[in-house]
Amino acid sequence: MSCPHLDSLPADHGAIEPLSFATMLEALPVGAMTCELRTFTIDYANACALRLLHAIRDSLDFDPEKIVGTCIDVFHRQPGYQRGLLSDPDALPHKARIRFGKEWLDLHIHPLPDSQGRVVRVLLVLVIATADVAKENVEYKLLRMIGDMPMAVMTVDPSTFQITYMNESSKETLSQIENLLPVKPDALLGQTIDIFHRHPEHQRRLLSDPANLPHRARIKLGPEVLDLQVSAVRDTDGDYIGPMLTWSVITKQLAAEARIHQLAHYDTLTGLANRATFREHLEAALQRPQPCLALLFIDLDGFKLVNDANGHLVGDALLKRVADRLREHCPEPDVTVACLGGDEFAILIQGGDAHAAIQLAEILVAALVAPFLVEGERRLRLGASIGIAVAPLHGAGSETLLSRADIALYAAKAAGKNTFRVFQEEMERRITWRLRLEAKLRLAVEAKDGLFLFYQPITDIVTGQVTAREGLIRWHHPVLGWISPAEFIPIAEESRLIDEIGTWVLHRACMDAMTWEDGASVAVNVSPRQLGTGRLLEAVVAALLASRLPPQRLELEVTESALLNDQVDGLGELRRIHSLGVRIALDDFGTGFSSLAHLRAFPFDKIKIDGSFVRDATSRPDCAAIVGVVADLGRRLGVKTVAEGVETEAHLALVTAEGCNEIQGYLLGRPEPSARDRAAVASLNARGAAGRRGETPVDGEAA
Ligand code: C2E
Ligand code: MG
Ligand code: MG
Repeated sequence: MSCPHLDSLPADHGAIEPLSFATMLEALPVGAMTCELRTFTIDYANACALRLLHAIRDSLDFDPEKIVGTCIDVFHRQPGYQRGLLSDPDALPHKARIRFGKEWLDLHIHPLPDSQGRVVRVLLVLVIATADVAKENVEYKLLRMIGDMPMAVMTVDPSTFQITYMNESSKETLSQIENLLPVKPDALLGQTIDIFHRHPEHQRRLLSDPANLPHRARIKLGPEVLDLQVSAVRDTDGDYIGPMLTWSVITKQLAAEARIHQLAHYDTLTGLANRATFREHLEAALQRPQPCLALLFIDLDGFKLVNDANGHLVGDALLKRVADRLREHCPEPDVTVACLGGDEFAILIQGGDAHAAIQLAEILVAALVAPFLVEGERRLRLGASIGIAVAPLHGAGSETLLSRADIALYAAKAAGKNTFRVFQEEMERRITWRLRLEAKLRLAVEAKDGLFLFYQPITDIVTGQVTAREGLIRWHHPVLGWISPAEFIPIAEESRLIDEIGTWVLHRACMDAMTWEDGASVAVNVSPRQLGTGRLLEAVVAALLASRLPPQRLELEVTESALLNDQVDGLGELRRIHSLGVRIALDDFGTGFSSLAHLRAFPFDKIKIDGSFVRDATSRPDCAAIVGVVADLGRRLGVKTVAEGVETEAHLALVTAEGCNEIQGYLLGRPEPSARDRAAVASLNARGAAGRRGETPVDGEAA
């Protein structure tokens, strides 16, 4: 093998010239300069030094071409200090980092003694350090960042498992669990990570192999929980340097999460599943193959009254007791008991059928009527209405089942409460029809269109004089024809349209009565729902003022049920109306409770014996006896009695014989439209003959 350099060497090796220092310096691939220390002048710069300076010349404030002969001061911000340093052999060698604009230069300064050992010159080795500085800056910033990070960071030596670095947050975080560690946080550097673990061998295995990383774990340390994330730190070649542990104490956070979960899934007051959870359970049960389940909707009867009368604290305590009772009777794991809000509860029996649901409903109805002991001594009574729907019989979707359980609940309430009902198609039809009718009625009430007040005379049996006329409401719908008040008044009562209707009836009755030449009174029917809010009193006063009808000519008819609800002050309102001079009649006596206590509770001016007794009295002696007893009672109490439903001469003869004072019925006249409505009603009757619903009597026409 031949080497070109050696080939060019003279054959005579012994003749090689001794190496000159200057030649060597010139050839060095390192920037080198010398500076003589008498004048601090640079007296030599090698080719590489010139190249380096040339490369950064834009940043220099001297001419690199003329560096030889230039004073060393051009390299320094504080030349005095630097000169002192250079003249002090003990300070050398020395390294200085100098900045020129955006460039950085490292100067390595070495003494160059002369033959007598005096340092008369220094050697300056030049290195451009700009790239190093940039890199160091990044590293420095990173370290600062990690140090200031609001989460605890540690590094661990993967061979000894000693903690090699901890940032500030680590110390703070550790102080939270200080009493659980064997050493103080300050003394943790150099300790092994074993102190955090019950099974350190496992953790050591994990950290020693980067293939296991990243890794996340929750560590239980006494009552505290740590969240630990371990990632692998690698060098630029991708080699594993060691693990970095990021961690925090999450005990409080976990507690908060648990609380949020509780809030999101459970009712705060009762602790039962909430509506969302109930829905989830229902949906999940319906997702199963061939789902079979039963739904019970429970509404507390009378809760609102207890709540209003005793305050919310008692109401809340009561709801908790109710929840306890429901839980007590539904301990099975496949039964979800939920509070849907307020006093509405629901139960889902997975795998349950109608039979199971009925059995549970019977138990719950009985359990919830038993008195509740609240606040130690107080005994409160409630009741429960329950609606039942089952899958697959009543539907396969949650919406359908929920709405059908609701419909069944509605039916249970309508059936007198404190009972349960299983869904039936018929209920849905009825409710749909009711809802449609309600919407139509609302439109009619708002537009005051199609509503009429008919009048039926009430006459004195002895004199034959008309003493009063009862106003009876009539509703004509353009498509449905005449709709009986027996059908739409209950709907109006439930939808609270009754207040508006009642006010309209009062005004119309008082206005019409003012046009009657015989000076008869006008009787207006009042629904129990209108009583107790004060609105009826207002409406009566307004109607009397607007019409100027003397109060003595107005009569209100109330049924016994108006006296039953003692939670609202219906009786009080009635008394206030009575004190205006308005007379009050007890309507339909005999059909409801027919309680003598009710006759004593209010000084009624009139008792109206229900038509059903009068009609049957001619054929049934017991009915005749009732008519007689009530007439007698009225006489003794000084209250007038009116026999309703007198259709025949025989009825008349009987009620006369039994001692009634007044009569009302078809024999004397059917309810008829007022003079102002007569023409409108006649034309409606003529037009609507085809569309009319057969069962609705059209009094005016039939009369
Ligand atoms: P009510 O107050 O007991 O009215 C008497 C009912 O008996 C009326 O029925 C009347 O038309 C009917 N009637 C009168 N004489 C006879 C008869 O000889 N034979 C038979 N079979 N029936 C007779 P109507 O008008 O259908 O009203 C039914 C119920 O609707 C009323 O019973 C009353 O409770 C309620 N109502 C009517 N108008 C109003 C009103 O403006 N407001 C309220 N809240 N309820 C009303
Ligand atoms: Mg009446
Ligand atoms: Mg009546």
